[in-house]
Amino acid sequence: MSLLKILGDEINLSHLNQLPEYSYEYSGELKALQIKAFNQEVVKKVIADSEKAYEGYRRVTAFERSEILFELSRLLHEHREVMARIISLEAKKPIKLARAEVDRTVATLKFSGIEASKLEGETIPLDAAPNGAGRETLVKPEPVGIVYAVTPFNFPLNLAMHKIGPALAAGNTIIVKPSEKTPFSTLFMNTLFKKSSLPENVVQVVTGDGKEITDYVLQQEEIKKISFTGSVPVGKLIKSKVGLKKLTLELGSTSPVYIDDVEESLLDEIASKVINGAFSYNGQVCISTQKVYIHENIYESFVGSMIEKAEALKYGHPLEENVDYTDLIDKNSQERILSWIEEAVNTGAKLLTGGKKIKGGVTPTLITNVGEQMKLCTQEVFGPVLVVRKIKKEENIVKLLNSSDNGLNAGIFSNDMKFVMNAANELDYGQVLINDVPTLRFDNMPYSGRKNSGYGVEGVKYAVREMMQSKMISYNYK
Ligand code: NAD
Repeated sequence: MSLLKILGDEINLSHLNQLPEYSYEYSGELKALQIKAFNQEVVKKVIADSEKAYEGYRRVTAFERSEILFELSRLLHEHREVMARIISLEAKKPIKLARAEVDRTVATLKFSGIEASKLEGETIPLDAAPNGAGRETLVKPEPVGIVYAVTPFNFPLNLAMHKIGPALAAGNTIIVKPSEKTPFSTLFMNTLFKKSSLPENVVQVVTGDGKEITDYVLQQEEIKKISFTGSVPVGKLIKSKVGLKKLTLELGSTSPVYIDDVEESLLDEIASKVINGAFSYNGQVCISTQKVYIHENIYESFVGSMIEKAEALKYGHPLEENVDYTDLIDKNSQERILSWIEEAVNTGAKLLTGGKKIKGGVTPTLITNVGEQMKLCTQEVFGPVLVVRKIKKEENIVKLLNSSDNGLNAGIFSNDMKFVMNAANELDYGQVLINDVPTLRFDNMPYSGRKNSGYGVEGVKYAVREMMQSKMISYNYK
């Protein structure tokens, strides 16, 4: 029997081993030891069960769906600490951030509950069209059917709920495939859901090799909508295979922030925000602040402040309180990041601080003079590296920010209203954050990437719409 020892309690997760495609062992640290080969029969049955569940769930009233979502939210809140520790252990995430992820997810479910009761349609005046008179219309949103969700390792609970909450609000059933690196948060969440009044098989979780499962699922007629969060290359691959299924892609970024010539008294606070935006969870965040552009008038003082703050960050085990950074998700990631730093340094970049191996991690790195064609500038680092650049008065910052292949979040700190509004209107990004770093997301706001960063919109209300289809009914009373 496998037991997960956290919080001083023994939590029985032996049911996880009953999943035929997955087995694990807990030995001091939560570890996925073996992921068995993809099993087509298992996934086929999951889809068949989902289809059956949909026949019932699509008839559940909006009132009941809303009540179920509020119940799931309460249930998650009651299991806050257990859930946070599972996230912390498997994602190597500082416990304070894991708790914040749970709290945020409690709210995601509440927002979904609210949306469930707001699915409004409309009427269209057909008499505005030639020969259209004498008809009444009704345009109503309907659920799409079965949603298939694929999630990344970095927010294993919250990013799954960004798909589950809206799917349940819309009246869909959903199959979730979490990252092989962090399956336990989603699996544990699903065991909690089984204690609730959510009907059986409305939410199901499949684990195993991402490519094999998804390749198979994408070919199945019964699946009507794909919602993917992950890297750009995998997102593009999925887009090439979905055919006519509805699709949402939430992909990566190289998020920039610009610090204008603001008053000296604001610099310390802004530097704290930038450091937090760049190094929170080792920069393993899709909207991690990767590049900071700094006005020449404040450059020296601002960089000095950032270095001081980066060097004060504390490394440790994820479960230690007050730890700021930990090991990276895996060795591959550590080696890749160190090699990108080395590549930049070998071609003239200057390390301001960091750039060193620390057990399984990399020390918070500030680096300048990085060539525009270096990977640190063009690719998503997904690690603790912040590229620093001085900006001269005459440079066009909007043009510079728009030269990126990505377009998720961009931040600007400035008190010049005219500059800010012009820049905000011209920036080719899904979200522009004024007086905030790009590492900002609230779950009720729309969230979408442009260019390589995505396709479609998330954020609870918007995701619900993308998981529904419209039906027009017209009645001829002539
Ligand atoms: P990843 O793309 O490696 O994996 C994401 C998911 O895709 C996993 O479940 C994985 O099993 C699956 N997968 C991997 N290869 C596949 C394939 N060939 N076919 C089908 N599925 C496959 O990403 P990751 O390393 O887990 O997460 C980091 C990435 O996710 C970063 O690029 C980050 O920016 C992005 N991300 C984006 C957002 C957003 O909202 N835009 C949020 C979080 C993370």
